[in-house]
Amino acid sequence: MGNRKVLLNSQAILDDKLESDFVKPAVMITDMINDFVTGILKNERAEKIIPNVKQLINFARENHIPVIYVNDAHMQNVDVEFDVWPEHAVADTWGAQVVNELKPEKSDFVLQKRRYSAFQGTGLDQLLRELKVDTLILTGVVTDICIQHTAADAFFRGYKIIVPEDCVEAINEQTQKAALDYLKRIYGCEITRKDKIVKRKWS
Ligand code: ZN
Repeated sequence: MGNRKVLLNSQAILDDKLESDFVKPAVMITDMINDFVTGILKNERAEKIIPNVKQLINFARENHIPVIYVNDAHMQNVDVEFDVWPEHAVADTWGAQVVNELKPEKSDFVLQKRRYSAFQGTGLDQLLRELKVDTLILTGVVTDICIQHTAADAFFRGYKIIVPEDCVEAINEQTQKAALDYLKRIYGCEITRKDKIVKRKWS
């Protein structure tokens, strides 16, 4: 009987371990909005990742993985970013809208941000906890700014982070490479590619 109890306990420990190893991802799309693609802060490199991001979003929707957009939606004449950058992505303007190719669907989540990090003043952490998400797949722009600050906040809160390098972009190859290297070294991000993510078994 004693042995049986030990066995049952071991099974419970094993179950707990499996439970704790279980990965519950969300795909996040950061700032794939008009102003960062073809608008005032346009970037041809951002335009080029649209098909990859689209494939990843479609994969997530088909596999019931939450899709979460976090978009710049700045307050005109107020936000601190306008001391550093030209006015961009003002809330409720064309520039703050997600590009046509990647429009959110009803089942997706859409949050607005006024800072680089998707966690700052957006309710993202609360949403992720409610969805029981423990792993973030980060996509969008810009790798060394909003993606990097989002990764920092995710790391501080204990989320695992996956970055498909063909679904994020910076303004040039040099900053892209440096940012990916930083994400890997400092926050332990797994740097991978879209095709590897869609081939992985997630649950
Ligand atoms: Zn901004």
